[in-house]
Amino acid sequence: MTNRVRFAPSPTGYMHIGNARTALFNYLFAKETGGVFILRIEDTDQERSTPEAVKVIVESLKWLGLDWDEGYFGIDNEKGEFGPYTQMKRLSIYNKYLDILLKEKKAYYCFCSPEEVEAERQKSMKAGMPYKYSGKCTKLTEQEIQAKLAAKERFVVRFKVAENVIVKFEDLVRGPVEFNTKEIGDFVIARSDGVPIYNFAVVIDDNLMKITHVIRGEDHLSNTPRQVLLYQAFGFPMPEFAHLSMILGADRSKLSKRHGETSLLAYRDKGFLPEAMFNYMSLLGWYPKDGVEIKTKEEIFKNFDIKDVGHSGSIFDEKKLVWMNHEYIAKLPDDVYLKNALPYLSKIEKSEEWKKDVLLKIKTGVKSFNMIPELASVFTEAKAVNQDAANVWSGINNAAATINAFIEVLKANEITKENCKALVAEAGKKAGVKGKDLFMPIRIAITGQEHGEELANVLPALGSAECVKRMETNLKNI
Ligand code: GLU
Repeated sequence: MTNRVRFAPSPTGYMHIGNARTALFNYLFAKETGGVFILRIEDTDQERSTPEAVKVIVESLKWLGLDWDEGYFGIDNEKGEFGPYTQMKRLSIYNKYLDILLKEKKAYYCFCSPEEVEAERQKSMKAGMPYKYSGKCTKLTEQEIQAKLAAKERFVVRFKVAENVIVKFEDLVRGPVEFNTKEIGDFVIARSDGVPIYNFAVVIDDNLMKITHVIRGEDHLSNTPRQVLLYQAFGFPMPEFAHLSMILGADRSKLSKRHGETSLLAYRDKGFLPEAMFNYMSLLGWYPKDGVEIKTKEEIFKNFDIKDVGHSGSIFDEKKLVWMNHEYIAKLPDDVYLKNALPYLSKIEKSEEWKKDVLLKIKTGVKSFNMIPELASVFTEAKAVNQDAANVWSGINNAAATINAFIEVLKANEITKENCKALVAEAGKKAGVKGKDLFMPIRIAITGQEHGEELANVLPALGSAECVKRMETNLKNI
């Protein structure tokens, strides 16, 4: 039997890292096992669902390279024999199944108002008890129900849950899981507007779409016993479940805006490579047995096993992501790197040849593409010495004398790639300094900063005259 997995996001906002990791692990599982990966849009929360959010989901998956085989591909663009793949287009299907449960008396109409339910909830809270619906509407007679329906009273449909039954399921990540139904109570599965509640719709869809493995975030673990009860009520075969641990910030609290960027596409916009993001995110909960973290997609497919996914929270460490992105950029073939990098210099009025030359010079320093304008600025503008650099400068012996010596050397020679090292050494000899005492004043006087691109790249690109001009200006002002 072919494995079938689905990513089933609710289009209610941007796609965050947690969701993207769920999509990625479904994708990896499909690739690892030769299965089918499906995209289903769960838009039953009509107040919060937006078409823009659907677009963001599609764009995010495409950017990350998670090509799916079946499901939603765009408005009026679906692929697969089990559609529609958008829940709001499946209302008649849900209603058919709702009728089955009502007929078999496994579900019932509940006409309690939200205020009544809230009052019940408050009462249990005061008594320190977990809230459960009282079951008041189970006592209605058939006649009362029909009269209320005819009078178009607002209702919900509740699923009847037996008291004190243990619900068990095996979770591929967490092992055996058990819940007692006494913690659950009769839960709502649909509203009078005909829109189903998540727990109900998801079971119908996963069954009809022949999903074999439900891989999703741990935040859905407590929903699973409700879903298991529905599977049992319909006599549907049960899929396997895998609940992925939450993604945490560096302080081990749930990842949130406080920790910086949490939207996947924000990383695209900051100039991260999708391949680096893919690789980094594959390590959020999974660790390759061979300990080698940087892996191609194919290597990840080969090594990934859902059974190796850990159940403790995974830390989203942006520093490590930046490190990995840096490694990926450094390894890009020059032509691919230039294609990615050139747009970041679009505001600079220089020839493409000049830009390419500068881009190759700064390549080793690029950790994410959005750093490029800053890194390249050394080549385009003379900068005053910044405060940090000025502090470093004042701690160096004879910094000014070193600069004067270098000015003298450059006035007599045009600096090139070939003679760069020798000319710097000549200035050092004149001033009687070497090492950091030689390089640091030159770096600061020419770039205004205490770190940055290698001098051997910067100086010949600027040429002697520009170097002299910058050093004279900065020497006056420091
Ligand atoms: N629509 C749910 C969500 O976005 C899907 C949960 C599931 O995969 O069952 O959280």
